Amino acid sequence: MRLRNIPGAREEMLVNPYVVQNPEEKKGHWQEFFGNNHPIHIEIGMGKGQFIMALAAANPDINYLGIEKYSSVLLRALEKQAELQLPNLRFIRLDAEYATDVFDREEIHRIYLNFSDPWPKDRHAHRRLTSDRFLARYTEFLRSDGYIAFKTDNRELFDFSVETAEQCGWELSAVTYDLHHSPYEEGNFHTEYEDRFSALGKPICRLEMAPAKNLKKN
Ligand code: SAM
Repeated sequence: MRLRNIPGAREEMLVNPYVVQNPEEKKGHWQEFFGNNHPIHIEIGMGKGQFIMALAAANPDINYLGIEKYSSVLLRALEKQAELQLPNLRFIRLDAEYATDVFDREEIHRIYLNFSDPWPKDRHAHRRLTSDRFLARYTEFLRSDGYIAFKTDNRELFDFSVETAEQCGWELSAVTYDLHHSPYEEGNFHTEYEDRFSALGKPICRLEMAPAKNLKKN
């Protein structure tokens, strides 16, 4: 994502009512934070928030947390949320590397990774949000019956993710290399990047993955 530093964005993060302050303090208490016992779904690298806002509006019985590393990007989502005021949606400005500081064992029911940065150079592979390091982090808070839903236009990143997930003992399901012309398109909410790449004629890849132990329990 091309980043423009927006003056005042960092300051807004500290006062905006939809941004969770000191999220580490909510670890293990996210349902209490939302004031209900609904499942919690997170999107990591949510960008301007089109996807997670549409989901939150469509599913009032699910709590959503949007995680984004950059204040200037998150600011766009906050502007929309100020209009919509969705009660089941909050945001955390955080580098996903530190997600285990914020979420406890079995706390998160689903993780969405949409059009994650591809980090094409081999030496940066560990930064990909589907690298073995990140998958290990996710197992520390993804519930036993939970899974990750991952979408990308980037075939190299997709192939890397499939390979890594299999090597780490995760089970893949609902795999498609052309989401918009597959049965999985029904009920699919588009992200900003998805609309952009799809308008350029690029097929969208999608999969779901869960640690093998999760699938065996079901
Ligand atoms: N998910 C959105 C979409 O599909 O339209 C945005 C995709 S954009 C290519 C990737 C987003 O992930 C950017 O907003 C970037 O700042 C964010 N991001 C990248 N690495 C991250 C990390 N380690 N933790 C949190 N957010 C991250």
